[in-house]
Amino acid sequence: MRLSTILSEYYNNQIREVESIIDKDKYFDPEEDIADENRIPVYNGTVLNIDIGTIVIHFFCATRNDTVTYKTQSHVIHALVVNNKIISIDCTLDCIETDACKDCTKPIQAWFLIEADNIFSDKPNVRIIKYNFKLPENIKYMFETTDCYSEWFAKADYAYRERLGAGAVIYLRTIFEKLTKSLGDSENIGEMYKSNGHTKPFEQILSIVDEKCSIIPDLYKKNGYELFRKLSDIAHGNQDEQTAIANYPDLRRLVQGVVDNVQNKRDELYANKELKCALAKVGLSNGDINE
Ligand SMILES: [Zn+2]
Repeated sequence: MRLSTILSEYYNNQIREVESIIDKDKYFDPEEDIADENRIPVYNGTVLNIDIGTIVIHFFCATRNDTVTYKTQSHVIHALVVNNKIISIDCTLDCIETDACKDCTKPIQAWFLIEADNIFSDKPNVRIIKYNFKLPENIKYMFETTDCYSEWFAKADYAYRERLGAGAVIYLRTIFEKLTKSLGDSENIGEMYKSNGHTKPFEQILSIVDEKCSIIPDLYKKNGYELFRKLSDIAHGNQDEQTAIANYPDLRRLVQGVVDNVQNKRDELYANKELKCALAKVGLSNGDINE
């Protein structure tokens, strides 16, 4: 695997092994190697050319309402060596669609900060620690075009990577609340509302909806409400950033579990409805599945 594959999958921050990044015929590590007049020593702060293959990333052009593919034009790009474990890469990506519109013809500026066990290694293990894209107007990330929950999860993860604990948790809480309420509404659970038509406090809504639809994953049954309280506390600024960061992985798993449960519930309800229709069509039932 080449480094370009890692950068193309910028949303994945797992450690993976890649082919050598630095051309040893051109450059050498002055810490490890003796001076060599045919090769250039790479000190901290050196900018060098590295051949990493082609970066290919899909974005979404809102003007064309379609997925568009962007690529680096050259295999060789500039990299700044921060030290022998960190390199910074700046590059531009161009749209390769033949019918690109005025928005997707504009190049995208991309920046990646990559951590390696040793950047001079023949098979370095690398991981993206930060990235940033400067997107032209109307060009969006793919996750922004799926459903709002995937978008909020992506934003929560981004905030977490940037160590913005409270920000990350607010997105999780939003997902949790919106999803629970929307399931309650689609199931016509009237108990969620007060007599004046306003919604009850979320903690009550959660217990009402969970009782009818069991959305809290079994794993969290015992402390699901407690975790939600933690989510609330952090989102309301009653907890410090460190607590938010420390609790994020657990809270994310809980919220992801709830999202999965609700999805399964919806699929099940949909399947029931389909079955009812099918039974009614063949005249085996009046369509009431409980009969
Ligand atoms: Zn376009």
